[in-house]
Amino acid sequence: MIYADNAATTKMSDLAIAKMVEVIDDNYGNPSSLYRFGQRAKEILETAREEVASVIGAEPREILFTSGGSEADNQAIRSAALIGKEKGKTHIISTKFEHHAVLHTLDKLEKEGFEITLLDVHEDGLVRPEEVAAVITDKTALVTIMYANNEIGTIQPIAEIGKICHEKGVLFHTDAVQAITHVPINVVEQNIDMLSASGHKFHGPKGTGFLYARKGIKLSNLIEGGAQERGKRAGTENVPGIAAMAVALKEATEKMEETAKYLTEKRNKLIAGLAEIEHSALNGDAKKRLPSNVNFCFEGIEGESLLLLLDEKGIAASSGSACTSGSLDPSHVLLAIGRVHDVAHGSLRLSLGEDVTDEDIDYMINAVKEVVTYLRSFSPIWRDLVAGKKQFIL
Ligand SMILES: *Cc1c(COP(=O)(O)O)cnc(C)c1O
Repeated sequence: MIYADNAATTKMSDLAIAKMVEVIDDNYGNPSSLYRFGQRAKEILETAREEVASVIGAEPREILFTSGGSEADNQAIRSAALIGKEKGKTHIISTKFEHHAVLHTLDKLEKEGFEITLLDVHEDGLVRPEEVAAVITDKTALVTIMYANNEIGTIQPIAEIGKICHEKGVLFHTDAVQAITHVPINVVEQNIDMLSASGHKFHGPKGTGFLYARKGIKLSNLIEGGAQERGKRAGTENVPGIAAMAVALKEATEKMEETAKYLTEKRNKLIAGLAEIEHSALNGDAKKRLPSNVNFCFEGIEGESLLLLLDEKGIAASSGSACTSGSLDPSHVLLAIGRVHDVAHGSLRLSLGEDVTDEDIDYMINAVKEVVTYLRSFSPIWRDLVAGKKQFIL
């Protein structure tokens, strides 16, 4: 099987698995206990915190371990909303193509009385910093914009947006779940106040993640209880998971440059191959995107049938919206960049793993070509397009 759905989740690295098993086996103590066996678990936890902090240029006490990216997004946004509210600031700015962990949190806050501005994203899948600046008011509590999009992989001008926020005294959060270990991140240099990350997106375990919050930012709890995580997240820490996540983060970061170079070449080859299919288009800017991400629309077909047939050929891919599977709505990301419904339905995301080979790329290009041709051969929409009853868009 060719696993080309690394934006949905990744395989754990051998080092991360070994670390996890080691901690489960040898260090099952509770980090809050006073005896040495518990203190050893505490040390493992704090070493992981130091490692995670150093990867993004933060201080250990600025790292809060969570159950993943969704929880980190929820806590960051809720905390900033509350901080703002106490100062009479009830306006939040984000974009239309965020992850649902962000969008659904904002929906709830809107019902609770916050004013939400969701910026349009341009056809190239990029947010313009000047458009962020233009909507900031003296009521703005938070700007939250993702670092790299999970469907189309486009990388946003985060440092510039952060600078604007800081000049205007507004908190800036970024969901960096897709970006971390793929692009260099330094929260100080890039003016980031809060950042979310998820272990299972960089070869760590599922159910692990972290929130970076600059010191001085008062986080509010999503989970009440014991005093773990400086009192900001109750519950006995997932020590094996956290230790394994830190190992995976360090490992992937050390290999980042090499991986990016390798994957960029493979990605570009895949893009060039798929672009040969008539009436197709790459979604998102060709260069300002994750080295692992390829996302195409093919006119006249349904993404779901495409995925099922690719599965039969041994390719695990996605339509770019694992979260909308089971619903007939096209991806909100593709609609946000201006794709019309019909076109957005025929989307395919291939997110490459570091072990992808040239043979895999050739195999994927041929398989997609075959399947698209086959599906079009009995698609009523395609027939209408070819007969001129409908206009081609791509
Ligand atoms: C996967 C993902 C999340 C959710 O992370 P979990 O750890 O699965 O909760 C949030 N944001 C983005 C951009 C993602 O890709």
